[in-house]
Amino acid sequence: MMKVIKTGLIYVFACIVSFLIVMFVNFADRYELSPKQVYKVYLDGKVVGNVKDKQKLEDYINEEQKEIKEKYGVDKVYVPTGVDIQKCVTYEKNVLTAKQINNIITKEKPFTVEGYKITIKSNTEGEDDIILNVLNKDIFDKAIKSVVNAFVPKEDVLNYENDTQPEIKETGDLIEDIYVDQNITIKHSYISTDEDIFTDEKTLTKYLMFGELKEDQYYTVQEGDTIDSIAYNNKLATEEFLIVNPEFTSANNLLSVGQQVKVGLINPIVDVVVETHSVVDQESQYNTVTEEDPTMMYGTEKVITEGQNGLNRLTMKIKKVNGEINNAVTLNSETLTPSIDKVVKVGTKVYSGGGTPAIMTGSWVWPTISKYYISSYFGYRWGKIHEALDIAGSGEGSPIFAAGSGTVVTSQNKGSLGNHVTIDHGNGYYTLYAHMSSRLVSVGQTVQKAQQIGTMGHTGFATGTHLHFGLYKNGLPYRNGIPMDPMILYR
Ligand SMILES: [Zn+2]
Repeated sequence: MMKVIKTGLIYVFACIVSFLIVMFVNFADRYELSPKQVYKVYLDGKVVGNVKDKQKLEDYINEEQKEIKEKYGVDKVYVPTGVDIQKCVTYEKNVLTAKQINNIITKEKPFTVEGYKITIKSNTEGEDDIILNVLNKDIFDKAIKSVVNAFVPKEDVLNYENDTQPEIKETGDLIEDIYVDQNITIKHSYISTDEDIFTDEKTLTKYLMFGELKEDQYYTVQEGDTIDSIAYNNKLATEEFLIVNPEFTSANNLLSVGQQVKVGLINPIVDVVVETHSVVDQESQYNTVTEEDPTMMYGTEKVITEGQNGLNRLTMKIKKVNGEINNAVTLNSETLTPSIDKVVKVGTKVYSGGGTPAIMTGSWVWPTISKYYISSYFGYRWGKIHEALDIAGSGEGSPIFAAGSGTVVTSQNKGSLGNHVTIDHGNGYYTLYAHMSSRLVSVGQTVQKAQQIGTMGHTGFATGTHLHFGLYKNGLPYRNGIPMDPMILYR
C-alpha cells in the first residue's frame, strides 16, 4: 500500500517539473530578458501587434493602397480611425512585419482618404439630411454653381454678383437675392474608402440635380414633335425640359427629326432660391356679359360684341425655388389696354308646345379680382400633373368668386387643399377653389356666377398665398372627375 502511494507522488512530482520546464521554455519564447522599444498597434482598443518602426508601417500601408490612390487620384491613404500606434518598451519578443499588421487591419476596417464631408440639412421635418463625400471643396463649390446656373443664366448671376444688372426698361427682372435654401456644412474629414466619394464636378452636379446617379434618359425626336409636347409626354414642365437640355433656350426652338433630347426628371437636392423685382405684362381675361332677349328662342344665343383681352403691367416681387414660382406678390398693377366685355344675347322665349330646352353652357367669370398673376399653369410639374391653375398676386384676404352658377358640393378645411369649396355647375363641370383663408358658403347652397365664396389664403399645403383653381368634367375633383385646363373656360 505505501509503495503505491510513493510511486504516485513521484509521478505527480515529475509532472510538475516537466510542466515548469514547458512554462519556462514558452516564457523564453515569448519574452526576452532585456526590454526593447517597439510600437504597439491597437485597433479599437484591441492589440493588433508590435512593430519595430512606425514610419515603415505607414510607408508600407501607403504603398499597399496604390489601387485606392489611383481610384481617387490622391497621394495618401490613411489608416482607419480606431488605429492607435503607441511607442512602448516591452519584454515581448514577438514583433510583426508591416505586411502582417496591414493585413490584419485591412481585414477589419476600411482605410480612409482625406476629403470633406458635406451635410445638407433637409428643410422638411422628418426627412433625412443628405451627407455626401467629396475629395475637395472646390468640386462642391463648382457643382453648386452649375446647379444655380441651371436655373439662372450664368450672365444674370454674374451681373447680380458684380452689381451690373441692366435697369428694367419696360418689362424684365432685377435679381435681388440668390441663395441655396439649405443649411450646408462642410467638414474636413477622413472618408472611408468603402463609402461613395465624389471626385469630379460633373458627377456631383448630376447628383445634386437629379437626386440620384443613373444613366441619362433620352428621347428621339419624331415628326411633329415640339418641345412642349415632348415635355408633356414625359411628365416634365417645359421649363424643366429647358433645364435638362440647356442647348435649347425657349420652347419655340426648332427640333430636327432623329435628334436626341434628355427627358430625365429633375429632383434637385438643394433648393436654389431667386428673388426678383419683376415687371411683367399679363393678359387680363375679358368678361362675358349676357343680356336676356325675350324675342329669341330659349337655348339660342347671339354674340353682340366679341370680347377682347386687355393687358396689365404688373410690378411684382417673385420668389422662385428651382425655377418654379413659390411666391408672387403684386406691388402695383397698371392697365395698358382695358379688356372689352363679350356681350351675348340669350333667348328666353319658351316653346308653347312643350319639349325640353337644350342645356346651356353659361359663361364664366374669373375667380379673383384683377392684380392677379398666374404662378403655375395646368400641366406637369416634377413628374406629377398639376390639375389646376395657381393664381397669386391679388393678396391674402382678397375675394374669391364662383366662376359660374351652381350648387356647392364641398365646403371644408381638410388635407392638403386646406379651406376648399367645390361647385357643381350642373352641366358636367365642377370647379374647385383651394387654400382659401375663409369660406363663405356651405354644402347644398346655390351660388350665382361671380358670387363671393371665400377669401384667398394659404391654408393646407400651399407655398405662399394663392388660389388653386381646378376644373373637372363629369365627376368630382380627385375622385372620378377628369381634370381640365381651367383656361378653356375663358377662350
Ligand atoms: Zn396649385
